[in-house]
Amino acid sequence: MGTQRVVSDNDPHLALFTSSIGSRPKVRKSEFDMEMTSLLVWSIVFAFIATIIANAKGLSLGKWAVIGFILGPIGVIWSLVTPKNEATLAKRQVDAGELKACPFCAEHIKIEAAICKHCGKEQPPIDPSLLEKWVCTHCKAICKGSQTSCWVCNKPRSTA
Ligand SMILES: [Zn+2]
Ligand SMILES: [Zn+2]
Repeated sequence: MGTQRVVSDNDPHLALFTSSIGSRPKVRKSEFDMEMTSLLVWSIVFAFIATIIANAKGLSLGKWAVIGFILGPIGVIWSLVTPKNEATLAKRQVDAGELKACPFCAEHIKIEAAICKHCGKEQPPIDPSLLEKWVCTHCKAICKGSQTSCWVCNKPRSTA
């Protein structure tokens, strides 16, 4: 026999354990289920973290959710070391009314900039209404003058 013991359904300790929790002797199977459940929970948690990082970096959310789900912490580290998608981030800021494309060199600059930091050209005066904030009549979100539609509910700016 030696020191190894085979756990069987007749094992008195196991019988006591299973009777105390009032279930059939399926301990090994439910332990397996528990491991699979916690694995699934962790996979979802890591997928969620990777998605938040991907969003902040302007990366594909769907792709990084899958990477986080499959690779777990490695996927999260991978998302941390992946460079930002500058084009997506700049486009997001243009949509938010924070940046505009310079009419001379097409680089993104701050909407209030008087001189382009990339090409040094003087910027045409901007319509002051572009800097005025407006309140969405649908959801009451505060939007910037350069935005033609609400950044929250996406409804067009009401002229009323
Ligand atoms: Zn420029
Ligand atoms: Zn709105």
